[in-house]
Amino acid sequence: MIDRLNAAVRDIPDFPKPGILFKDITPLLANGELFRESITRLCATADGQRVDKVVGIDARGFIFAAAVADRMGVGFVPVRKQGKLPWKTRGLAYSLEYGENVVELHEDAVHPGENILLVDDLLATGGTAAAAAELITSLGAHLIGAAFFIELTELNGREKLGNYPIHSILRY
Ligand code: AMP
Repeated sequence: MIDRLNAAVRDIPDFPKPGILFKDITPLLANGELFRESITRLCATADGQRVDKVVGIDARGFIFAAAVADRMGVGFVPVRKQGKLPWKTRGLAYSLEYGENVVELHEDAVHPGENILLVDDLLATGGTAAAAAELITSLGAHLIGAAFFIELTELNGREKLGNYPIHSILRY
């Protein structure tokens, strides 16, 4: 099965900029069996732990995170790019593999004492996830771990995420 998941991720050289090998997950998402399997595996990363909410990262992270939250029967919370969330936000700037960005979280989206699972499609340099993790914990919630469908291991994103348990399904 892992081979089939692997084969459903398409490599696009030089997208969106020269030198970036973009991991295109759309063939995987379009396959019902493989998409379901990817959600099963992401859910399994939190086996045996209480999860109160799943936080997903704009934009491809929403696809996985929302499905994981639904499967677990818990709430979904978006971390979004600057200016997209309508209510009071907390924001943080970070640099990513191609460019710079600010991510925001609604101030009332997570609460002290809640157990949060962070989900994104891909861990590259770890800047995005580290910023999201900091936003979550700055609101007093407990980050039980971060789960990525894909990890680009050479970029050492794990190091930026500190001591949180980090899980990935496919590694390149
Ligand atoms: P980073 O902050 O460097 O870990 O970047 C992670 C975010 O950027 C993820 O949300 C991905 O959607 C996106 N991303 C970064 N690099 C790639 C890549 N090579 N292929 C696809 N998405 C990427």
